[in-house]
This record gives sequence, C-alpha cells and structure tokens, in this order.
Amino acid sequence: MARILVIGGGIAGTAVALGLHKGGHDVAVFEAHPDTAEDLGAFLTLATNGMRALAQLDATDTVAAVGFPLISLRLLDSQGAEVTRAPLAGAGDPALRYRCLRRGELNAALQAETVRRGVPLRHGTRLVSVADGPDGVTAHFSDGTTATGDLLIGADGLNSTVRRLTVAPTTQPRYAGQRVYYGYTDGDVAAEGTGAITMVRGTEAAFGYAVSPAGETYWFARVLGDPLPAGGPDHGTAAERRDELLPLLRKDAAPAADIVAACADRVMVTNATEMPLGIPWHTGRVLLVGDAAHAASPATGQGASMALEDAVVLAKALRDTPDPRSAFARYEQHRRPRVELNITVSGAISRGTHTPSRTGSTAPGASREDDTLIRQLDWETPLVEERDPEA
Ligand SMILES: Cc1cc2nc3c(=O)[nH]c(=O)nc-3n(C[C@H](O)[C@H](O)[C@H](O)COP(=O)(O)OP(=O)(O)OC[C@H]3O[C@@H](n4cnc5c(N)ncnc54)[C@H](O)[C@@H]3O)c2cc1C
Repeated sequence: MARILVIGGGIAGTAVALGLHKGGHDVAVFEAHPDTAEDLGAFLTLATNGMRALAQLDATDTVAAVGFPLISLRLLDSQGAEVTRAPLAGAGDPALRYRCLRRGELNAALQAETVRRGVPLRHGTRLVSVADGPDGVTAHFSDGTTATGDLLIGADGLNSTVRRLTVAPTTQPRYAGQRVYYGYTDGDVAAEGTGAITMVRGTEAAFGYAVSPAGETYWFARVLGDPLPAGGPDHGTAAERRDELLPLLRKDAAPAADIVAACADRVMVTNATEMPLGIPWHTGRVLLVGDAAHAASPATGQGASMALEDAVVLAKALRDTPDPRSAFARYEQHRRPRVELNITVSGAISRGTHTPSRTGSTAPGASREDDTLIRQLDWETPLVEERDPEA
C-alpha cells in the first residue's frame, strides 16, 4: 500500500482517488477551491467509455443521481433539415448510456462519493511547491501546511501547477482555433423533447443542444476565430456574449438562433484549448493525469471521459506493476496513444480541418468502443503490456 497525494479535486482527481482507494492505497486529495464549486463551468457529456470507467470505479449510481441520459443523436444541416438520426452507443444499457451533466454537479457528486468512501479531501488547499526526494515527495500548500507521500498525482487541470513545478516547466496549453459559447435557456424552445442531443452544422458555428427532463435547453456553439481577449468567463456580460453570437446563428434557418435569443442571462464563453503532443507526463514520484497531461479542445466532448479512463488505468497499473515508476511507464504506454489521438482529432475539428462522421462518432474509439479499451478498463483483467501491432 502506498501513501498517494492527489493534487486537484476535479473530475480527474476525484476519479483517481476512487480508483486508488479501490486498489487499497492510502489516498488524500488536496483541492484549491474553497468549496465544491457547483456553480462553476459548462455542462458536458459523458460518453459510453466514460460511463464504463465510472462503473469500474463503482460510481455509476453516484452519477446517475445528477444530469440526464441521452439515447440518440440528430444531425441537422444549416437549413434545419435532419441529415441523420441514430441511437447513441450504449443506449440499450442504462449504466453505459451517454449522460449530459453540469460539470459542477458531476464534480460535486464525485467529491461527495470520495469523502463517503473515507478518502480525506481538503478544500482551500492550493499547492505551491513540490519537493521530490529519495524517501518521499512533499507537497507545500498556500496555507502553510505540507503533506508527504510515496507518490504525487497532478490532477490540477489545464494550467497545472504540478506540471509547471515538476514534469514540464515550460509547456503551455495552446489555443485550438475556436471560442466555445455555452448556456442554459429556460424551456424546450425547439420542441425537441428530452433524450436526444441535436448537432447543427451551421454556416458560422457548430451548434449543439439537449433538453433536460425539467424542460431546460442546454446548448453550446463553437465558432472559429481569434482567442478571447480576456481569456474566457471574464469576457463581457452575458447579454454581450449572446449579442456577439446571435448574428452568426441568424445566417441559418436551424433552431440555434431562437434558442440563444431566448437565453436571458446564462451565456458563458471560453477558449478551446489543448496541450501539445508528446509532453512528458512523469518524473520521479510525480505523474500528471486528466487535463494537466492531455487537455483536448472540447469538440469531441471527451475530456471528462478520458479523465475517468485515466483513473481506472492508473489504479490497475499500480496494482499490477510492483514498482511505481514502472507502473507510471505502463500507464503511459496504455494511455498516450488514445488521448493524443483525441487531442489531434478534436483539434482538427475545432480548426475546421476535419468533419465529424455522420453518426457523430468523432473521437476514434470513443463511442464505438473497441475490445482493447474494454479490456483496459475492466477491473478484473490485468493490465498487460500492449503488443506492438507492427511487430
Ligand atoms: C466548454 C467546455 C466543454 C466541455 N465539454 C465536455 C464534454 O462534453 N465532455 C467531456 O468529457 N469533457 C468536456 N470538457 C472537458 C472537461 O471539462 C475536462 O476535460 C475535465 O473537466 C478535466 O478534468 P480535470 O479534473 O483534469 O481538470 P479540472 O476539471 O480543471 O480540475 C482541476 C482541479 O484542480 C484544482 N486545482 C488547480 N490548481 C490547483 C492547485 N495548485 N492546488 C490544488 N488544486 C488545484 C482546480 O480547482 C480543479 O478543481 C469540456 C471543457 C470545456 C472547457
């Protein structure tokens, strides 16, 4: 049993804590934010692969209590005509169905589950420095406290302090070519009903929406262009953001403009951002997971699902490989090809150089899961060395 410090109590950090706890380790989570931050951020979709990972962490029920399921995907052209309608992967299995959730709600549910299982999770604890040594790794926090463990997992997101202090000090996330607007509109403006996610290939924006059982329309719009001057949520007021977006949507006959026009005050915007490929993920006793290692632009909608996959594979790697540094290498061998393919495909969609398939299966292996992934995620199956397909 190792003593493992997890920096960041977001989706990756809490999932890693659940996985490592299941693997019998002594885990503690340190989160900078003073509370569960339920109000923060957009909504997201957990795909079948993310739901499969959650099931391996025994957390399906935790997440089933928030958000709502999606069972089909509709694709509309810019005139509002239906191009295709297809069931989403996992639609027949309640545990594997796509799920649409507010990011903060998912985070809060995973934090509550982490605490319920007896894993200490300290809010208001911001990592400021790390000392890695032969006998252990010590984290120093802004409140003057410290914690020492055998291993330290950096799950502190896109602008990771762990990454800057240890593994890749000069690496910076980069803009992926799109601004992403998202919001919540009261009512089912498009009279679509719940259970479907609708994607619109607009002239100026890729638009998507889903209606919750409570009759609220969750929507997003991805727009090519320069990065936001103020870098995200601080950019303008909600009304200014809406008025910036509406003229782009009004060029089309699809329902996008009506949905956004009816949105009073909950319009947010952020830059689509990604990590460069090939950055180091570990050094000594420290490993990066989630967005800290492999943030992708949101186009494939896979960031949270990939973080959940990380958690299962890391827990299995540490379980099945006695030496932690070899376990980190084994983890990387399994994860890097998959997450970097997602960064590449998602970035190409964001930059307009790749068009998603008609079924909406945008990340390779994401909605149509392959046997390798199912084996990697299955808790009972050992994490074997992947054979080189060229060998
Ligand atoms: C607009 C948008 C839409 C998206 N849509 C989807 C989608 O549909 N599907 C999907 O799967 N993904 C989506 N994503 C991506 C998804 O939200 C992220 O990939 C996911 O949240 C990553 O989780 P994480 O835990 O790695 O990072 P984060 O969620 O950023 O969590 C990092 C945590 O670390 C904490 N932290 C930071 N610094 C420190 C420090 N120094 N000390 C201690 N704690 C610290 C933070 O407070 C935070 O709680 C979207 C992202 C965006 C921006």
